[in-house]
Amino acid sequence: MDFGIYVHIPFCKQFCYYCDFFKSANYKFLPGFVDAIEKEIEFYTDIYQKKLEVEDKFYQLNSGFENINVRSIYLGGGTPSSLSLTDLERIISKMRTHFSFQDGSFNDLEITIEMNPEDADLYFYKELRSIGFNRLSIGIQSFNNRINKFLHRRHDADSSIRSIEMARKAGFDNISIDLIYGIPGQSLLDFEFDLDIFFHYELEHLSAYHLSIEDRTEFGRRKKKNLINDINDVLSNQFYQFLIKQMRKHGYEHYEISNFSLPGFKSKHNSSYWTGASYLGLGPSAHSYNGGAYRKFNISSVKEYNHYLRYNLPFYQTEYVSFYSQYNEFIINGLRTQKGFLLEELKNHLRYQDLFLNFTDNSFTEHRLPIWNNIVKHYYSSLNNLKKNFADAFESFEPALRLKEDYYLVSDYYIQKLILNPDDYLDNTLDRLI
Ligand code: SF4
Repeated sequence: MDFGIYVHIPFCKQFCYYCDFFKSANYKFLPGFVDAIEKEIEFYTDIYQKKLEVEDKFYQLNSGFENINVRSIYLGGGTPSSLSLTDLERIISKMRTHFSFQDGSFNDLEITIEMNPEDADLYFYKELRSIGFNRLSIGIQSFNNRINKFLHRRHDADSSIRSIEMARKAGFDNISIDLIYGIPGQSLLDFEFDLDIFFHYELEHLSAYHLSIEDRTEFGRRKKKNLINDINDVLSNQFYQFLIKQMRKHGYEHYEISNFSLPGFKSKHNSSYWTGASYLGLGPSAHSYNGGAYRKFNISSVKEYNHYLRYNLPFYQTEYVSFYSQYNEFIINGLRTQKGFLLEELKNHLRYQDLFLNFTDNSFTEHRLPIWNNIVKHYYSSLNNLKKNFADAFESFEPALRLKEDYYLVSDYYIQKLILNPDDYLDNTLDRLI
């Protein structure tokens, strides 16, 4: 089966104040961590599974994650660039020798690594190229030193610019950077300055995120004490409209709420998340989805992840994804993209999977048909409501439901009008039994 592979490298030398990703500053677990990642890769191979000959439930639940055929590879974090070149090489070559590849060739894959600007020099970038990385995602966030300090980033504008120039020199011709906007104290002029540098280097891809203040972060704690607050909606919208106007002017395609690319440079890896394709997450806290009705969550502790892999103990939990949840996720992802979605695509996407027989299909048996009919009924009644009351926000209703670009930022509002409330459909486990 085809999978996009995500590897979570959780180590960070310093925590950014807005960040709620799973991360660790405890580098003493790093040596065991790379061993554990290698072990996890082995876990998804036939050879290893036959060797185990285990009949326990944990092992059976691995169903749907065997015989990995890789579509793309993405090393994210945390800070993947905090690993040594030797460790990065170990991870990539383990995948090379244990997985097969879409189109038969490792060299045709999109292989991305997230970089912190201060971690790389020309030598490091050149070595990344020879290991096989062909795409960079550099976490710049802002070219303004005052703002980066406020966000508690480690780097400054000089190291960001150096990082881009070195990457180009090393031969990277597919570079993405992250920028954040909507930061308290940031002006439109500040943001224009960031975008101008992005345009100056003619980079292929931009991920631009509105700052979101999450509870479990330093900013979240400050917000509770009234020391910081979100910017107001009018200003948020001004930032967003400015962003899309500038990106359009420079020929970038706005293909997802936060993502822009030059033609031919959409992120293949991220696009697979938005279309409900299967992906395999390796490393602590990483999620996986088998493209059917199962999702897995790796344990969120580096110490335990290393230990469990070392001793062949269960290192993840599995969750069943009902038809109804699959519907909701399809809407949530689809409405944030330029393409939108078709109900027919959803029908083809829905999967039923038996927990113990390892059986996956999407046929609509007499038992499953009523569930699908409920979904269709709910969808068309929500669609009529949208047509009647929110026609201005939509580019088209049928065959594809697509929001206008100006409204992506508030897509959550329209998503809420379409998705099913869990209370509306008895129980997530119900359609597992039929
Ligand atoms: S470097 Fe990335 S993962 Fe680490 S704290 Fe900052 S934003 Fe979070």
